[in-house]
Formats: sequence, C-alpha cells, structure tokens
Amino acid sequence: MSNSVHLLTYADRLAGDLPGLRRLLEGPLSAFDGVHILPFFAPIDGADAGFDPDDHRVVDARLGTWDDVAALAADRSLTADLIVNHISTRSPEFLSFMRDGDASPHAGMFLTLDRVFPGGATEAMLGRIYRPRPGLPLTPITLTDGTRRILWTTFTPEQADLDVTDPGTVEYLDELLAILAAHGVDTVRLDAAGYAVKTAGTSSFMTERTRTFLAELTERARSAGLRVLVEVHAHWRLTLELASASDLTYDFALPPLVLDALHTGDAAPLHRWLELRPHNVVTVLDTHDGIGVIDVGANAGHGDASDPGPGLLPPERIDALVEAIHAATGGVSRRATGAAASNVDLYQVNTTFLDALGGDHEAMLAARALQLVLPGTPQLYYVGLLMGHNDERLLAATGVGRDVNRHHYSPEGLREALTSSAVQRLLALVELRRTHPAFSGEWWLAAADPEEPGTIVTGWRGGDGRTITLRLDLRARRASLTVDGRPYPL
Ligand code: BGC
Repeated sequence: MSNSVHLLTYADRLAGDLPGLRRLLEGPLSAFDGVHILPFFAPIDGADAGFDPDDHRVVDARLGTWDDVAALAADRSLTADLIVNHISTRSPEFLSFMRDGDASPHAGMFLTLDRVFPGGATEAMLGRIYRPRPGLPLTPITLTDGTRRILWTTFTPEQADLDVTDPGTVEYLDELLAILAAHGVDTVRLDAAGYAVKTAGTSSFMTERTRTFLAELTERARSAGLRVLVEVHAHWRLTLELASASDLTYDFALPPLVLDALHTGDAAPLHRWLELRPHNVVTVLDTHDGIGVIDVGANAGHGDASDPGPGLLPPERIDALVEAIHAATGGVSRRATGAAASNVDLYQVNTTFLDALGGDHEAMLAARALQLVLPGTPQLYYVGLLMGHNDERLLAATGVGRDVNRHHYSPEGLREALTSSAVQRLLALVELRRTHPAFSGEWWLAAADPEEPGTIVTGWRGGDGRTITLRLDLRARRASLTVDGRPYPL
C-alpha cells in the first residue's frame, strides 16, 4: 500500500501559476508527494472552469508552459485530466466543422443527433437518456452555410460531446495522452467517463459499450505509460466494478457518509461502506465539484443495471443529510446547489466541507483523520486543506454554484491560512500518513460494536510493532489517534 498523499488544486486559484504551485509544493506543502492539477489548458476560465479548453494541447500562458508542468512532475506524482466526453465549441476542430460542415476533416468527431439515432429518435428513446439534471442534452447550432444541426451536449452548450468511435477522435485522444505522458504526467483522470458513449435506446451512461470503450482507452493510456483514474459518480456498486477494471477510481461515497455519520452520530452506514469499499481508490472528502448524493443513493436507472440496487443511505436519510448540510452552512449551500445556480450536476451539494460541518475545526480534523487513515490514496482539495469557508462573494459575482468552494487565494490570504494552527495540525497529519511505516502494513477495522453505535475504530499494523489506531467518536465529533501505542496530539 502506497503512503502517498495528494493535493487537488487549480494552479491559479491557489498559487497564481504553475511555478508558484511548484514553490508551494517544495516549501510549505512539501508533506504532499503528489498533485492533481485541475485543467491547466488554454483557457482555464471558459464555461466550465477549464473543462472546456479551446485547445487541450496547449497550456494556458497565464499559468506557464509545458516545461513548468514537466518541472512539477519531476519530483512528484502528477495527475492531469483527459477530457474525453467533449470538446469546446471554440476548438479548432469545432470551428472547422462550423465552417465546412460535413466536408470538414473533423466532422466525424462531433456527436450530432443523427449519428446516435440514424433511424430517428422516439420519445421513449430520448426519455431514457441519463443526465445529471433534467432536460435533454441537445443544443441546436447553425453552421456557416445556414444548415441547422443538433449537437449532443451533456454539460454546457459550449461542450460538444465527442463521438469516441470516430477515428479522428481516437487520434485526438491518443495525441493528448502522448502529450501528457511526454510532460511527466503519470496518472490520467478520465473526466466524466460514464457519459462518453451514446447508444440509441439506452441511458447512454455506463452501458456495455461505455465499459468496452473505457477498457480500450485504459489500454491505450497504459501503453503511453500512464495510470488511469476513472471519474464516475454513480451507484456504489459501480465503484467496486470500476476499481477492478481500472487502476484507480474515486471513493465518492465517503464524503456524504462521513457527513451523515457526523450529523446523526450513527456509524452504521459508514461502517458498512468501510467494509465494502475497494482500496485502489482516491479517497476524498472534498473536490472542485459538489458532494455527490447519487453516490450513496439507490441505482436511479443509470447504467442500465438490471439490479435496482438500494443505496448506502435510504432516501429519507439522504434528504435529512442535505437539509442538515444546508442548516450547517446557514443556507449558503442551498443557494449554491441544484437548479439555483447554473450547476452541471443538480445532485451535488455545493459547500466547503468545513462549512458542511458548521465550521467546526475539530470535527473537520476528525473527518480528515479518518480519510487519511483509510486505505487508498488520500487527496486533499486546496480549499479544504486551508480550512476554507464558503466564498459567498465569488458565488454572488459569478452565479456559479460550485464557485462557493473554489476560492481564489491571494498571497496574503494563503500565508495567513498556512500559519493557522488548524492547517498546521492538518499538515502534520498529512506528513504522518506519508511517512509512518505502519501504513505499509495491514489495515484493520474493528467490528461494529452495538454498545457503541457512534464509534468507529480502525488502524494499521506494520512490521516492528509500528501501529496507528484511530478512534472516531461521532457523537462528540472528535477523533483520537494513537501512534505506536502513544497518544498523538491531533
Ligand atoms: C468534472 C466537472 C466538470 C464535468 C464536465 C466532471 O466530472 O469534475 O468539474 O464540470 O466533468 O467536464
């Protein structure tokens, strides 16, 4: 089991640019030995915070160059996104399609309605499509010659979905994999991978054809020397499946389950998941997206699963959790979530994790201690690491729900956050996770104790009697850690 701990961040919002990020990782953030830099391609500030670059091959000049990316990768693990599902409507390929229509050499890359439904689409077929919000993923456009076409757009109208079966798309994705690998990226995150293949008459989300495509793409990425991290928000069974089919996936069920446990004081659903969850996962509490509700819910029909599959939390408990988060944030997350704030995914709750816990630093450290002690690669999001609060000003300025948890740190704001005692304590925990030899040993989880339904006890046994024991008291919202038999001041 690797002891790596990774940072998840935008280069600009935390450190100004790529060289600035490198300096941070060589200095105050040297406890991390890996980083996932959110899209750094040109430009980083389109319709979806970098997930719609004009050109995925080019580094945004405001951040630096490919050499800066390579320099960051020289001393640490580097994860970068491969945006597989779509391409910007400002990309050279799309502009060529707009100009020349079907005569464009790139025309085949774009998923127009006819390509998915050559025999026509019935109401039933369109009704079956799965999307993270209501409405159809279709955007009409007018080509330069006046022809009207209908594009498949899962996310924003500026993100034109790719036909991943087209040879031009295969070539495009291979070119991107080669560029990333050539500049030191070791792990490629397949962004929004569940939506990549569309098949008439199905949900077009994680179908058999999607699985085949992901298996093939994984092989191509591995041939380019890359590890593959698949990003899918869905029913928990899919996490188990993806973990066995790929190098890494996310444990997106963990954040809502930790919040549920800390809000109810009942360890049972979290404990059950800790027994089930795979270990080749990136372990998160917070990311640049919201807290996923789908990930603990029943199979909502996505993935064409024949098994409707109950969720990790019953529906009424999910509703209570969402309400508890809204109450803990003083209503800010309600304004930032769902249809309220141009969200691409209505089923994610937007807030900083700290504010989802009512700003309680000790509860936050308890949650982090659990995240850091669980098997997997813990990844800490920059706002969470810095114990950030919801950025209501940014939310009001942009009207983008997820911006509430995407603060832009000024150099002074960053300096101040880094010197706070809560952040220093958290950094010490990160260092412990990365360096203590017990984490290379055997992980254990104490059986659920009916006498203590609000407690989770877990830890590691390494060689030479080195041990880590974490005791999480959910009702008190506190954790205690024992390292090699001695209490560790959290
Ligand atoms: C990313 C989101 C993004 C979406 C579309 C994801 O799952 O994490 O931030 O909006 O894909 O690219």
